[in-house]
Amino acid sequence: MPIDRRDTRWNGWGWSRAHNPLEGRDAAWPWIAAALGTGELPRTPAKSLEEIALPANRLDAGLRGALAAAIGADKVRASLFERAAHARGKSFHDLLYLRSGRIDAAPDAVVYPNSRDDVMRVLLWASEHGVAIVPFGGGSSVVGGVTAARGSQRACVALDLTEMRKVVAVDPVSMTATAEAGIYGSDLEAALNAQGFTLGHFPQSYEFSTLGGWIAARGAGQQSNRYGKAEEWFAGGEIATPKGLWQIKAMPASAAGPDLRTLVAGSEGAFGVLTSATVRIHRLARTRDYRAFLFADFFKGAEAIREIVHLEIPVASLRLSDADETYFFQAFGKAGQEPTLKDRLQRRYLSARGLGARPCALIFGVEGPTSAVAVASVQARHILRAHGAVAAGRGPAERWFAGRFHGPYSRDPLMDRGLGVDTLETATTWSNLKRLYDGVREALERAMRETAPAKGAHGIVLGHVSHSYHDGASLYFTYIYPRDLPREIEQWQAIKKAASDAIIANGGTISHHHGVGEDHLPWLEAEKGVIGVNVLRAIKRELDPAGVLNPGKLIP
Ligand SMILES: Cc1cc2nc3c(=O)[nH]c(=O)nc-3n(C[C@H](O)[C@H](O)[C@H](O)COP(=O)(O)OP(=O)(O)OC[C@H]3O[C@@H](n4cnc5c(N)ncnc54)[C@H](O)[C@@H]3O)c2cc1C
Repeated sequence: MPIDRRDTRWNGWGWSRAHNPLEGRDAAWPWIAAALGTGELPRTPAKSLEEIALPANRLDAGLRGALAAAIGADKVRASLFERAAHARGKSFHDLLYLRSGRIDAAPDAVVYPNSRDDVMRVLLWASEHGVAIVPFGGGSSVVGGVTAARGSQRACVALDLTEMRKVVAVDPVSMTATAEAGIYGSDLEAALNAQGFTLGHFPQSYEFSTLGGWIAARGAGQQSNRYGKAEEWFAGGEIATPKGLWQIKAMPASAAGPDLRTLVAGSEGAFGVLTSATVRIHRLARTRDYRAFLFADFFKGAEAIREIVHLEIPVASLRLSDADETYFFQAFGKAGQEPTLKDRLQRRYLSARGLGARPCALIFGVEGPTSAVAVASVQARHILRAHGAVAAGRGPAERWFAGRFHGPYSRDPLMDRGLGVDTLETATTWSNLKRLYDGVREALERAMRETAPAKGAHGIVLGHVSHSYHDGASLYFTYIYPRDLPREIEQWQAIKKAASDAIIANGGTISHHHGVGEDHLPWLEAEKGVIGVNVLRAIKRELDPAGVLNPGKLIP
């Protein structure tokens, strides 16, 4: 069943009816306050829809009439809920605005096309009348990718693609599938699974994000080692642009000049609207083998991952948490509980194995045909042990797998108690991994200390290696800190700037899989160079001469 946005939180994460994972966990609050060096945590509930006001609507009757005439009045909506739910994405930064009711930008209308012709008609209407169009899939962007900015245009319309959700064709011989771009992740997987296939793209936002959004933001799923990042499985598609419909034919490989798919993957709605995509699919895995291991040292664990990748052992997932991340999730989960006999025995066992009090957890997973899984699992475990890993069993890995989409439900309750919870990600070469990790961690810790609301208060940084490649890996950081409530936006900006400066100064990419949006824009030129940015500008001018597509995103 497709998602009805009205069943989801317009100013938070996921289903409105979802259980609050921190409810009744009274001991968790003093524990986390102490961990952050701060006093009792304040109550900071989000404003309800009834308590907020949106900016005045700029679509006058003439513009609205022309839009309704172009695609049908029933596809144009402008209720308070629709405008608020499409005002921003789902980053911590977005939620600071949405929860406090400081909604400085909201679309003047939300349009729900149900065909590529509808999309073309909207783009032509927008170009003719000077109205900004924000392509909107699941709206789960965490980089300001769907902020309802109108730039220099008269008004702003969100183009919600989720009514375009048909699986158009599955080719079981070539192992490709073609689907409309607004299909949600779970619907696409269900349709493929029913025929024995999978795309294998499982971002943490999987249920609430779409095929088009995955490609437009160059996303990465948790099993990207096996199934690839969006730009790898995206084989071709149709892109509606103000200049006409652009078709990129799916080819297994081609030497007919530069590969134009790379202009679409990562284009963030600034070059055109992906209306359908052909993707490379796989047979559903017959067997999964997920296990947990512990390392005494984060970089020893990273070395083991590098070795597994360089030996080309076909794993699906290698996720290595640093000591603080491993400790935090364990300790926060058990806050207020006395250690059991099992806990004490476990601690004694780990220390006897030379792991100390703060080991680093690795979740390693292999999936595919049964015999291939068995071989890969044995090979990978051999390497892990050779690098000093201690097996922690299947249990923790299976629990991680089962709960891997639930983590984000903790963010809203943490924000209800005056806390900041944000994430960022980057990637670099293996030889530079430690420098980048140390640089970003140090910058985050310093910025959170310097912007803390009270003396002695500070933040905590949790890091992990999330995706790995032949030549390097991606690092993912979660940071938690007490918000300085009167200046919480400025505080976040200072922390974000410190971390982004540190990423660039230490040789990382400004984003490995979240994209550029508004939030990473100031750092793009440092990464792409002046010529690179001018190339992007030239493409934008060619495809969108009136500049109506997603103003303020991607193009500095
Ligand atoms: C809790 C949480 C966890 C997340 N975990 C992950 C993760 O594990 N891996 C990961 O890669 N990302 C993750 N993200 C980020 C986000 O889910 C991804 O960027 C995702 O790919 C966005 O998909 P969407 O459909 O929600 O796109 P949207 O947020 O709607 O849009 C993202 C960008 O793409 C553009 N766009 C959307 N659809 C189209 C289209 N059809 N044509 C052209 N442009 C379009 C938008 O204009 C915008 O610039 C997470 C986000 C959250 C909130």
